[in-house]
Amino acid sequence: APRTIQQRLAGLNPRQQEAVRYIDGPCLVLAGAGSGKTSVITTKIAYLIQVCGMSARRIAAVTFTNKAAREMKERVGGMLKGKEGHGLTVSTFHTLGLNIIRRELKALGYRPGFSLFDPEDAKALLRDLMHKDAQVDADQINAVQHRISEWKNDLILPGQALSHAADEDELFAARVYEAYNRHLKAYNAVDFDDLILLPVVLLRDDPEALARWRKRIHYMLVDEYQDTNVSQYQLVKLLMAERATFTVVGDDDQSIYAWRGARPENLVTLGEDFPRLDVIKLEQNYRSTGTILRAANTLISNNPHVYEKTLWSDMGEGAPIRVVVNRHEEAEADRVASEILTRRLKERAEWRDFAVLYRGNFQARLLELKLQHYQIPYKLSGGTSFFSRNEIKDAMAYLRLLINPADDNAFLRIVNVPRREIGPGTLEKLANYANERGIALFAACHELGLAEQLPVRAVERLGRFTHFIDGVRRRMDGGDAIAAIRDMLHEMDYEAWLYQNASAPTIAERRMANVWILIDQLEKSMEADPEESTASEETETDSVEAAISRLVLRDILEQQAEEDDSDRVQLLTMHASKGLEFPHVYLMGLEEELLPHRNAIEAGTVEEERRLAYVGITRARRTLTLTLARQRKTYGELMDCAPSRFLDELPEADLEWEGRPDREDPEKKQARGQSAIAGLRSLLD
Ligand code: ATP
Ligand code: MG
Repeated sequence: APRTIQQRLAGLNPRQQEAVRYIDGPCLVLAGAGSGKTSVITTKIAYLIQVCGMSARRIAAVTFTNKAAREMKERVGGMLKGKEGHGLTVSTFHTLGLNIIRRELKALGYRPGFSLFDPEDAKALLRDLMHKDAQVDADQINAVQHRISEWKNDLILPGQALSHAADEDELFAARVYEAYNRHLKAYNAVDFDDLILLPVVLLRDDPEALARWRKRIHYMLVDEYQDTNVSQYQLVKLLMAERATFTVVGDDDQSIYAWRGARPENLVTLGEDFPRLDVIKLEQNYRSTGTILRAANTLISNNPHVYEKTLWSDMGEGAPIRVVVNRHEEAEADRVASEILTRRLKERAEWRDFAVLYRGNFQARLLELKLQHYQIPYKLSGGTSFFSRNEIKDAMAYLRLLINPADDNAFLRIVNVPRREIGPGTLEKLANYANERGIALFAACHELGLAEQLPVRAVERLGRFTHFIDGVRRRMDGGDAIAAIRDMLHEMDYEAWLYQNASAPTIAERRMANVWILIDQLEKSMEADPEESTASEETETDSVEAAISRLVLRDILEQQAEEDDSDRVQLLTMHASKGLEFPHVYLMGLEEELLPHRNAIEAGTVEEERRLAYVGITRARRTLTLTLARQRKTYGELMDCAPSRFLDELPEADLEWEGRPDREDPEKKQARGQSAIAGLRSLLD
């Protein structure tokens, strides 16, 4: 294998080499799937460092998913020696934004120790704000949350949203947006979309901050550029403006995040904003067999195109694409699992060579059961890990607040969980009070001066909460910390709260069981490592603290180990599969209303669904199997499903059908006709 940068360059085709070597101006690589766009980015990073002598610290490469960022980091890591990569940024857009915010807290007007609200936190805040003036249901809250996210992605601040509101609904959402942002600020918190929006606004309005960051980042590389939204594009543009030293790579046919604000037209904007833009097209696909590539090309040719691309491969024709029709969804899952079991032997493959892709995470449930049944190891991406479960986050927040009363994030998470009637108005005033004095929220609750700012009832409620927590802390100090924590959970009746909030009792039961598992783990962790705490001096709380951080760390490490070297079948949504490749790919659920999705059909956005299918198909290197079910449970009802229109758009000659539904035997068809006539008759009678 070639290991110097010159050898690596020589391994690339002339166009790729050109893209790597061109460093004096803006560069766009526009090319189809598997043509080596990401390879250009990783090689270019090494080229910038090893040939151009650029400090790794001055380079930032960004992409969209954690998985893709991790892969890119690995690929680059393999090319760099010793300290060459020190300070290099290879991350998601959001991580880059987070780093900018961290370093610019003062300029942004935030205090140290700010919180990042996840979508659930944000929804809880919105719920409280919206309940204030009216009865609202979950759909309305979701709609407003979505609208606010759109505004933030489009770089529209509350003032503009208010003045441009087109109707009453918009006006309402804009008002909530304004209040929501005000509350976030008072809580010293940011949400997910703020991770891009805040840096952009800062760099736009603060010339000194802009100068700092332009000095810091000299070269930017962006993968999957077609999925940038307005804010993300502005971030790149602001940072790179004068020098215009950047390389972005993308494929308009793989734009699949319009629903999250992505603007594929950013590809065109780029050419307008940077007239010197060097556009390089790549046409050879190094990933897939001729058959798979032909299927992808034929399918996507049904979409209108901004740039025409041709893609060819010399990987050989390969096997035909199989289309397997199953009786129902369970048969489909069983078929996929049992086939992987036998094909692994036949193909002399590893588990990790197989990937199963689907439209929605719910499709993975049955498949998981079947894989477990056949004892096939698998890795589910994007599923909920233990520590990201709500009940575990709640319990962890209690633990964090117990050991660190200054943890405002933890305080905010659980001050009203279970419900203590402490509303957002109270919390806003509390946060302002704490902010003025530079103290933590929990500490502020203890201050007498608070009584002047808040109604008596609110002060009482806060007092009851802090009294309760203080009591638990004293008991932890005084003896058995774990027993004190267990008692706390019983006393506040967290279980009852879970029951109130779960759609079914069994769900609440399982959630409570998870919490007890966490506490058991904590206890074990304390017993297991007595030598880690320097026994004599440390108090009981300190060792609880150590145990908690060990728990979190272990979770992180386990997850990483899983990512790295485990041999497992990969289960992921088509959205999450972007940029990845696998020798054998199964695409499940090729049915109307599932792929294309019913919502997309109704909204007239089938083209985006077609791109999604294109992304899925182009993940496959050697074999591709498409599966569907004739019947599926939808909204609790067993429904007949029709094969996806996308199947009709694939080259007929390359498909090998099994159980094709429209080759229905004539007798059955006739019988159906008869019963329809009978039905009509009975209507007329
Ligand atoms: P996608 O659009 O799916 O993100 P991509 O354009 O980023 O695809 P890569 O992932 O960079 O494509 O490359 C696809 C495969 O082709 C990888 O396995 C890569 O190692 C290989 N490859 C890329 N360029 C070459 C080349 N010049 N010679 C041989 N193999 C190559
Ligand atoms: Mg790629």
